[in-house]
Amino acid sequence: MSEMKIIETRAYLLECPLDRPFAYSRGWVDRRGAVLVEIITDNGLTGWGEAFGPGRMSLGALDLIRPMLIGTDPLQTETLWHKIYGQYREHGQKGPLIDALSAIDIALWDIKGKYFKQPICRLMGGPLRLEVPAYASGLFHQRDGNPETYLAKEAARYVEQGYSAVKLKVGFGIDEDMRAVKAVRQAIGSDISLMVDANGAYDAVNAIRLARRMEPYDITWFEEPVPPEDIDGYLQIKTVQSIPVAAGEAEFTRFGFREILTRRALDIIQPDICAAGGFTECKKIVDMAHAFGIRCSPHTWGTAIAIAASLQLLAILPNTSSVLHPIPPMLEWDFTEHSIRDALLTDALRPIDGMISIPEMPGLGIEINRETIRPFEVG
Ligand code: CA
Repeated sequence: MSEMKIIETRAYLLECPLDRPFAYSRGWVDRRGAVLVEIITDNGLTGWGEAFGPGRMSLGALDLIRPMLIGTDPLQTETLWHKIYGQYREHGQKGPLIDALSAIDIALWDIKGKYFKQPICRLMGGPLRLEVPAYASGLFHQRDGNPETYLAKEAARYVEQGYSAVKLKVGFGIDEDMRAVKAVRQAIGSDISLMVDANGAYDAVNAIRLARRMEPYDITWFEEPVPPEDIDGYLQIKTVQSIPVAAGEAEFTRFGFREILTRRALDIIQPDICAAGGFTECKKIVDMAHAFGIRCSPHTWGTAIAIAASLQLLAILPNTSSVLHPIPPMLEWDFTEHSIRDALLTDALRPIDGMISIPEMPGLGIEINRETIRPFEVG
């Protein structure tokens, strides 16, 4: 037992409006939000975490969990994970409760790293790699202009900046999607990887129609072709066409991924460390994927805390194959406007020529300044 105890936990609900709203298959985005968690110990250490998902829902779950943490030893990450999960398992197996638990677990691991003066990936037995490629995640629809023109321009810009992989939003109708796929493939040339993401917009019938038409364009993966509940839909799509099927940003815990893995419903799973259960749980999920020989490409969509946590997870992700040059796991690099993320970002957390280093400072490897987040606080 360490002598350390948790004396306080704080949650911050942050929001910022966007100068230029953008659209994906399920609607327009005109603001970005974040829920950050700060855990403070009696010896002065502070850990930070972040929850993915709707902010006010995670905040409600954090209020429930907070009293369970006060006075406990923050190094007992496994014990605390089970205590919180067990308390609410009947109604909290997926969604906001696990989002909140993820944020808490990330903050506890940040404390653990600071306590032992090691980055989290070292405490988890790594690192297996010191840097990873980042892929450019953007190519949304905009208010004005012709998508074929502005998407091609945006994709070409990512290639100029050194990115070797880009992800395009689809799910706007098959013909419209095909125009975008052709324009972007033409703009980036044949050497750059192109992924597409429908955010669950289609049913299996239309997803298969689109996939078959996209097959000649060398698509690296087709992400969330159908809604996350439709596991049989994933299987159906995966079976009848050649583009690898990816999903998992809306799946939670080892129990959620168990069904996907045992049924081989996906080619690539995409757990988000700020949603699937934090470090404690994602370590298990990535190891399970490894045991099933299924690729893992974590989802990342948040502030500097989410990025830093994802990097520590990427550092310990097992290689799917044992060949001399295994496929490196990639960091999803969100190129959309996000003032909160930008305010918290440090130079150590930016890709250079499409590559990003794993921070080697203790814990998450970043320092959060409370003054920086204050302007974005809601209520
Ligand atoms: Ca996605």
